[in-house]
Amino acid sequence: MGVKYQDYYKLLGIERSASEKEIRNAYRKLARESHPDLQPKEKKKEAEEKFKLINEAYEVLKDPEKRKLYDRFGADWKHGEDFSAQQQQWNTEHRSSTHSFDFGSESGGSGFSDFFEAMFGQAFRDRGAGDFQRAGGFQRPRRPRKGMDVTAELEVTLEEIFFGEEKQFQISMQDLCGVCGGTGVQENSFCSGCGGTGHTNNIKTLKIKVPKDAREGKKIRLKGQGGEAEPGAQRGDLYLKLKIKPHSVYKLKGNDLEADLLVQPWQAVLGDRISAPTLEGSVRVKIPPRTHSGHKMRLRGKGMPKKDGSRGDYYLKVVVDIPQEVTSQEEELYRKLSEINH
Ligand SMILES: [Zn+2]
Repeated sequence: MGVKYQDYYKLLGIERSASEKEIRNAYRKLARESHPDLQPKEKKKEAEEKFKLINEAYEVLKDPEKRKLYDRFGADWKHGEDFSAQQQQWNTEHRSSTHSFDFGSESGGSGFSDFFEAMFGQAFRDRGAGDFQRAGGFQRPRRPRKGMDVTAELEVTLEEIFFGEEKQFQISMQDLCGVCGGTGVQENSFCSGCGGTGHTNNIKTLKIKVPKDAREGKKIRLKGQGGEAEPGAQRGDLYLKLKIKPHSVYKLKGNDLEADLLVQPWQAVLGDRISAPTLEGSVRVKIPPRTHSGHKMRLRGKGMPKKDGSRGDYYLKVVVDIPQEVTSQEEELYRKLSEINH
């Protein structure tokens, strides 16, 4: 039986020195261009053969181990010669190696060329259900690719963190087209489901519980909610990078919170008890007599929850407020104040 040598490099239109990336790119381009479903009916059979060979070439060249074997074997091979001439020598030389080759045997129903079968068939059989067989034989000789991990920014409020609230959000995600399964083609034309891209964009609604110790930039992993995968493989993961929405009252500094506390001039001078806001409702705080503007009062343990369950502190910064409007009686009193200070 004569087996024709297949020049996988030529098939993919690449140099023998091509990098893994070049191989992958060449394969993707060719696989797209020569998909049998895109060819006219009379050329379909021929296209199917070619498509098969392209997949086979990629199956070998993308795998460094197989590629090495192939390169060694093909180094002194002239394109177009009969494979059988070399079989004996190859067989003798490599019988003791880890791979054994069953030349001249039946070419199994794998859908690969006789050449591939002769070269790699036995090696695959030795491994039992090799990865390409598990993945469905020729139809999908490559191991289906897992989806990419995706990072998205999610804005949360201080309150959502403080109370560990559940947050619902929507995210636009690409999915493999359900109509064509990602190939982009249907019969002889572009897929009606995706317009030929192989993907569809879907809005997904997801929910997370905001961790109480979440801070700016914290990443939350949602397993299997990331980029689409090829059929049979897992989706990637979604990483949510938290961004804290600026709050109108509170500033977050590490685990501490800070807020301004407006105080009237006479309260600052004479002292008073006034109401101050906190995330859990208002509290009464004591303004000591002669309090300066900018003075900070610490409310211990009233800040943000920490990882260990304790809490940071809450600082109230005194801002002496100047009334925008004063009554004539008040103005009179300020005038008196002014006079006795001259
Ligand atoms: Zn489609």
